[in-house]
Amino acid sequence: MRAWRSRLAAGRLVVIAIACLGVGAPAATATSSAGTATSVPPAAVADVPREAVGARLLDQLRLSGVVRAGPHELPGGGGRLPGSSRARDAGPEVRLAQPGPEHAPIDTIVRFEFSRPMAVGSVLRSFRIEPAVDGTLEWPDDRTLLFHPAAPLAYHSAYRVTVGGFPAAGGNLAALGSFTFATVWRPPSVPFPFTLTFDDCGTPEAIQAILSALADRQLHAIFFPTGQCRDQLPWLVPALLAAGHRVCNHTYSHPDLSRLSAAAIRSEIERGVSVGCDLFRPPYGAMDRSGRVASVAASLGYRIQLWDVDTRDWAGTPADVMVAMIRARGGVVLMHMHGLHTVEAIRAL
Ligand SMILES: [Zn+2]
Repeated sequence: MRAWRSRLAAGRLVVIAIACLGVGAPAATATSSAGTATSVPPAAVADVPREAVGARLLDQLRLSGVVRAGPHELPGGGGRLPGSSRARDAGPEVRLAQPGPEHAPIDTIVRFEFSRPMAVGSVLRSFRIEPAVDGTLEWPDDRTLLFHPAAPLAYHSAYRVTVGGFPAAGGNLAALGSFTFATVWRPPSVPFPFTLTFDDCGTPEAIQAILSALADRQLHAIFFPTGQCRDQLPWLVPALLAAGHRVCNHTYSHPDLSRLSAAAIRSEIERGVSVGCDLFRPPYGAMDRSGRVASVAASLGYRIQLWDVDTRDWAGTPADVMVAMIRARGGVVLMHMHGLHTVEAIRAL
C-alpha cells in the first residue's frame, strides 16, 4: 500500500475522489493483480471500507496506466477502468474535450464529455485540478461537465485535471480520467507593431525550432525561402502555410540581382517560391539604380519588401541585443532560418 502511494503522488486525489464515489454508489469492478477482471456484486462490496474500495480502484488504474494518461498518450483521450472484454464494452468513458492538444489560452474553460449519462453528484465530487484553481462547475447535460476558472489561468503552466463518476443507470463500472494540458506563453512585450521575417533556408532542426518558438509565442511570421530551399525541403512550404505563416519570394538561387540582366532577374523570380504572396525580397536587399529589379518584380505582380530592423542574426548577434533592437522600434524584422541565436530571441521577446 505504501509502495503505490509513493510511486503515485498525483494519484492521492484520485483516492479521495473514489472514496467519495464509494458513498452510496454502485461498486466498481475489482481486478486481480494479474489484470483479469472479475465483477464483484454490489452487495459483496458494500461491506468493504470505502478506503479499501478507493485503494483497489487506484491499483487498477495504476496497472492500466489511466492515471498517467493524458490526451496525447491515450487515443481518444478517455479513461475507463480495465475489465474483461465484456465489461469493457459496457463501461462509461470520459474525455477532455476542451482545451485541445494545442496550448490553451489562459481564459479557457475545461470541458469533459462522458460517453453515457452520468450520476451528477458522483461526477461533481470527483473533479480535481492541480495546481488548485478557484472556479465553478457546471453540468449543462448529463454527459457534460464544465469547469469555469474564476480568474485567468497562469501563462506557460501545466495543469492536471481529474474527473470520474458512475453512470446514471447504475452498473458496477466507473469512468475515471486524468488529463494534463498546458497554457500559452505570455505574449511578447514589444511596444510597437512588429512582423518577424525569416529568409533563405536552414537545417530541418533549426526551422522546426523556429516554428515551435513562434507557436509558443503565438506569432505569425513571413518566410522568404529560396526556390532551392523549397526544392531541398519539400515539406517546408506546406508546413509553413499549415502553421499560418505567409510564404513569399526570395528568388531561386539567391544571387545579387543588381548584377544580372533583366531576363536573368525575371528567371530568378519566376523560379522562386510562388504560393499566393505578392511580396518579393531581393537577396541582400540589392537593387540596381536604374530600377530594373523593381520593375521586373512589378511586371511579375510583386511588391518589394525590405525591412526596418536588420538583426544580423546570421552573424551571431546575441539574443538580448536582437530583442532590444526589436523593442526599440518594431516594424519589419529581418531574421534568417540559419540565424545563430534566433530561436532564443523569439522566446525572449
Ligand atoms: Zn537572403
